[in-house]
Amino acid sequence: MVETLSIAVIGAPGVGKTSIIRQFIYNDFSEVYTPTRTRYVYRPSVILNGNMYELKILDVPPISSFPSSSSQPVYEDNMEGSSSEVPILVVGNKRDLQRQRFMPRRAVSVLVKKTWKCGYVECSAKFNWHVVLLFKELLGIAVARGMRQNHTSIRLQGALQRNRCTIM
Ligand code: GDP
Ligand code: MG
Repeated sequence: MVETLSIAVIGAPGVGKTSIIRQFIYNDFSEVYTPTRTRYVYRPSVILNGNMYELKILDVPPISSFPSSSSQPVYEDNMEGSSSEVPILVVGNKRDLQRQRFMPRRAVSVLVKKTWKCGYVECSAKFNWHVVLLFKELLGIAVARGMRQNHTSIRLQGALQRNRCTIM
């Protein structure tokens, strides 16, 4: 039995959402910006602390507002049972462009952790820096809060064969 966890990656266009996901799953990075045009669900398997999980990572094209309207069901079917208790991890990507930052890391971290009560991780999808860490962090919070959704035993084999299982 493998537990499934759904992750919605949201944020402004061009911040590197797709790059983070693709670096995590395929160890791949492209300098060319290809705006995400259709929603896509990635289904990697991961091992955390000896337990295997199947992730559903949702990458979506730009939406005008969040939560999206009911006429635009972007997340609903993937985020069944979602509530205000869904763990949120704020990610600051493009850490490699450190010199162009407009706010010290420490200040952002304090704002996110103290004011928003969310976790905060900085990463670089380009250099694969802290990419596994951020998923590990998020998974850790979700598992601790008992967010595990459902059970599946199929598809795992395929994921492993395609070399898409990350040991965290
Ligand atoms: P999305 O719209 O949020 O999905 O953003 P993309 O993943 O498509 O990335 C937008 C652009 O930022 C692309 O040109 C990427 O090559 C670039 N990019 C993404 N992550 C990084 C990073 O960590 N560092 C740098 N320097 N560029 C990045
Ligand atoms: Mg994208």
